[in-house]
Amino acid sequence: MTTKKRGKHTVCIHEGQIEDKQFGGAISPIYMATSYPFLDVEDKRYPRYFNTPNQEAVATKVAALENGEKALPFSSGMSAITTSLFAFLKSGDHVVFQNEIYGGTHHLIHEEFSRYGIDYSFTKGLEISDFENEIKDNTKVIYLETPSNPLLSITDIEAVATLAKSKGIVSMIDNTFASPINQTPLDLGIDLSIHSATKYLSGHSDISAGVVAGTKEHVDMIMYKGRNFGGNLSDFMCFLLERSIKTLALRVEKHNLNAQYVAEALSINPLIKKVFYPGLTSHKNHDIAKRQMHGFGGMLSFDLDIKLDAKLFQKKLNMIKPSMSLAGVESTVIQPSLTSHALLSPQEREAQGISDNLLRLSVGLENKEDILADIEQALKKCI
Ligand SMILES: *Cc1c(COP(=O)(O)O)cnc(C)c1O
Repeated sequence: MTTKKRGKHTVCIHEGQIEDKQFGGAISPIYMATSYPFLDVEDKRYPRYFNTPNQEAVATKVAALENGEKALPFSSGMSAITTSLFAFLKSGDHVVFQNEIYGGTHHLIHEEFSRYGIDYSFTKGLEISDFENEIKDNTKVIYLETPSNPLLSITDIEAVATLAKSKGIVSMIDNTFASPINQTPLDLGIDLSIHSATKYLSGHSDISAGVVAGTKEHVDMIMYKGRNFGGNLSDFMCFLLERSIKTLALRVEKHNLNAQYVAEALSINPLIKKVFYPGLTSHKNHDIAKRQMHGFGGMLSFDLDIKLDAKLFQKKLNMIKPSMSLAGVESTVIQPSLTSHALLSPQEREAQGISDNLLRLSVGLENKEDILADIEQALKKCI
């Protein structure tokens, strides 16, 4: 734990930075070396060992933001997720997964787990009893994701963390949608907080990376397994990520404001059936979100009126681009029924509450009036 608690903006800017002793430059120098001293050195530096100067610099920053003891940077979010899970699992073990999770994580579980003899269950809902019901004698990990994709559902983090602790089970959360500015799950008792740093931590749609943060003991276990699996982040990318995180708190605060504005405006628009955003009092679990989040984030989704064509709507947008990724400075939109959830049948999608007219919006940092205006003009062209 950091002893002296500084503000998030200060931590984003200064924490972990490498002092340029040679020239006194204002930023961390980039150390691209893959070869470091070997003789008489205890912790031998090597990129795949997660201990080069730039890897340690960005990891220190992320650990401080998450209120963890240690963090590790990976080459993608999936690399961070896979390495974290496999560090704590072996054949014969069982994992409880929240039912609504990122599509890539879903594919990992469905396509790989049984090949390695790892058993798993998905919860039926997001209540604490739903998690409790799936726990078995051999459950080693509970994995959650809140706010979830694409419906921005909220799980009670502290309740799940307490349940896991009482059974000696390791708890992990995908904290990507919230970012460490809006949510610090380690403070609520979660063991490991994971991010696709490709999203908010990077924020400019130009870095592929992942991170995990937690206690030194847990993160060291992942580090030692990660040295076998590979998946470390290059020093140049660590430098870029460190640079991006300097404005993370600033960006996320603005994402929060813009998303709240757009969510409120859309929720009273007659051409929109329903808006899903944890910052709206109409959200099913707004109270839990208010308790466990410091801000409600830049992601929202909405159901277009049944009369409107979701594809036509996206084509009529001028500024907002239909895009696979999210969390950049630019606003983007995606239709889950045609992308992340295309492999499910319409019935399966309906059971999850994902209609064919659902759109997920990543609210960017443009002027909020311009974001809303673009949506409103596109809606009018669909009538
Ligand atoms: C993008 C994303 C991931 C995967 O991250 P990559 O960097 O694409 O590997 C995991 N979880 C969530 C919630 C994501 O949005």
